Amino acid sequence: MTTEARHPHLLKPTNPPIIVGHRCISCEQIAFPPDPYGCEKCGSPASNFESWDLEARGSVRAVAMVYRHHRPTPPTPFTVAVIDLVGGPVVKAIVEGDDAAVGSSVEGFLVPEDQDDVGNVIVDLRFRVIQ
Ligand SMILES: [Zn+2]
Repeated sequence: MTTEARHPHLLKPTNPPIIVGHRCISCEQIAFPPDPYGCEKCGSPASNFESWDLEARGSVRAVAMVYRHHRPTPPTPFTVAVIDLVGGPVVKAIVEGDDAAVGSSVEGFLVPEDQDDVGNVIVDLRFRVIQ
């Protein structure tokens, strides 16, 4: 039995987890998620990108509570935040608990969400407030 990320091209299920972005070789712009159309800063084609590991840590730029959702999981209500990662890019993610506020420092952690046919645990990324 192994641990697999729900989106393996975007997340490494390590401890702490790693978010997989890309870096433009021409202008060094770091972005997430990997953009198939090329660099948003200098226009280089996507073939000019290299994979770039990002720490799942940052600060909350905006936060909202979700009360209605089109899927059964996660159960509502839950908190979604726009997070400025320490490595530069901005992500939108679920923050566990109800203590996230603008400016809160957050870190990522893995939560088991599912199991595949051969018993591998499928994990996804969540964030939590740290002091
Ligand atoms: Zn570029």
